[in-house]
Amino acid sequence: MRILKRVSSLDRHLDIIREEGRTIGFVPTMGALHKGHVSLIKKSTEENDITVCSIYVNPTQFNDKDDLEKYPRNLEKDASLLRKFGCDYIFAPSSSQIYPKGLDTKVDLDISHLTSEMEGPNRPGHFEGVVQVVKRLLDIVNPNNLYMGQKDFQQFTIINYMLKALDIPTRLRVCPIIREEDGLAMSSRNVRLSSALRPHCNLIYKSLKYAKEKLEELNINVIEDRALSSLKIQNFRPEYFDIVDGHTLKPVEKMSDAEYIVACTAVWAGDVRLIDNMILRGEKYIR
Ligand code: AMP
Repeated sequence: MRILKRVSSLDRHLDIIREEGRTIGFVPTMGALHKGHVSLIKKSTEENDITVCSIYVNPTQFNDKDDLEKYPRNLEKDASLLRKFGCDYIFAPSSSQIYPKGLDTKVDLDISHLTSEMEGPNRPGHFEGVVQVVKRLLDIVNPNNLYMGQKDFQQFTIINYMLKALDIPTRLRVCPIIREEDGLAMSSRNVRLSSALRPHCNLIYKSLKYAKEKLEELNINVIEDRALSSLKIQNFRPEYFDIVDGHTLKPVEKMSDAEYIVACTAVWAGDVRLIDNMILRGEKYIR
């Protein structure tokens, strides 16, 4: 496994691989890797000749300075995990490689129809930043397959839209959410949870399971209200609990309105913001 920090070095290596007709799988991450990331790496190594993992904490997608500063970083530990699971290249660039002076990396793409709900209003500019960095990374790596987690439902939906709208020939593969034993979705931010709050964080998973169980029985707005209430315990502050159409990300009013239905939520546990989701109907649309 090689760790490369410069676009030009990665280019040199990947040019040869492409010339040899070998396939490239790409896993973009912000590091502080856990088993969720590992599942994407494993899938990529199964499906491609070569796997590239990028580790870059992208400032343009952070709308909260504090979150950017506190984001955990540990390249050495990440590298040993990636080596163990068969990753071939780590691309760990500095910002001057991703956003060099004089290069216009803004993406001219209207994503407003996919950002009006959920994370969009709560994190202004976030998805524009995600689109910008993923497009730049795709331009650099030019992979056959791109691996992203279901954990960030709105994110992969927007990236999938970008791939189609810009006619980018990379195929998106979405991998299931990897959870801790109690159901909490794995996240790099989980290390920041206090030991007092951590035992209560499985409430999020429980609220999503509740929504799935009640989908046939209760009105959607009742499910959302009850799920939200269940998340309002001491030191927890749910931002939203929305049941949406998985294709359009627009609210679903009646169960009969959509074939692909997903419940998405964001909850502050102390000063850590956690997101999670569960497909309530139409699992076939994601895999
Ligand atoms: P991040 O480093 O948080 O930007 O995440 C990099 C990729 O890993 C994204 O595509 C995430 O959706 C995915 N990911 C993060 N957490 C999980 C998880 N618990 N299970 C599966 N994929 C995940």
